[in-house]
Amino acid sequence: MGLLEGKNALVFGLANERSIAWGITQAFKREGANLGISYAGEMLEKRVKPLAEQVGCKWVEECDVTKDDQIKITAEKAAKHFGKIDVLVHSIAFAGKDELSRPYYETSREGFKNAMDISVYSLVALANAFLPYLNPNASIMCLTYYGSVKVAPNYNVMGVAKAALESSTRYLAYDLGPKKIRVNAISAGPIRTLAAAGVGGFRDMYKHFADAAPLRENVTIEDVGNSAVFLASDLSARITGEVLYVDSGFNTVGVQMTEKQEKGE
Ligand code: NAP
Repeated sequence: MGLLEGKNALVFGLANERSIAWGITQAFKREGANLGISYAGEMLEKRVKPLAEQVGCKWVEECDVTKDDQIKITAEKAAKHFGKIDVLVHSIAFAGKDELSRPYYETSREGFKNAMDISVYSLVALANAFLPYLNPNASIMCLTYYGSVKVAPNYNVMGVAKAALESSTRYLAYDLGPKKIRVNAISAGPIRTLAAAGVGGFRDMYKHFADAAPLRENVTIEDVGNSAVFLASDLSARITGEVLYVDSGFNTVGVQMTEKQEKGE
């Protein structure tokens, strides 16, 4: 029997087969969850619908998380289809390309607001809108990155947004704890996705990561999917407000050197 058998799980943020949301969706399917998928805009419908079919998902809804009315309608539609919800995955972020390549001090007011709105406030808004429809013991999770706690060149406003997202995770976990609803974040190592392509210097950073991380390996969407299963399942019943690193151990190393550098070559 799968770890998520009988659980209704909604995944927000599926763009294509490279999306972290796709790794999570597939892992949830494997573990027996009833799936619902939400995507950002009409443009994505063509790509998302065939993926949803692959995992036998019948509930596929468009939701732009900058729109309160769309979030409300999506929550109502989900409740109508599923009854109660057990798992909510927030795998959404956005920052303009300009903000992810020039110095952080040049971040525009509009760019800052946008990144915060889409990448942070949306988690709060989703939690609030879905609250009436969440089962006791429900699990909410979001995706974050190490650029929240240490400087990752070019990550800029997104690092600041991820810091706010991790803090929001703790505040939501505190508020929802008495209702036995858990809220956690997964901090994933760099993965080649559409969102990552917007970060200046990502290719080099991706390569350096595999050289410097203790496990000497990059992270895959399957790795993140498996960790998401743990956070969605009752195996993590007493874990909330946490940031779980799925990063081959990269965040634990203070001075990062490649093997060649270590050997003085
Ligand atoms: P992705 O496939 O591009 O997913 C990002 C998703 O956010 C897309 O589906 C995107 O839709 C959606 N989104 C943007 N604006 C939205 C809006 N207004 N309403 C609803 N959805 C919106 O990239 P990903 O790497 O899998 O990103 C998923 C999450 O993982 C993000 O939170 C990201 O920061 C995080 N993360 C990524 C990495 C990495 O290296 N890739 C590492 C750690 C954490 P559109 O394509 O239509 O904009």
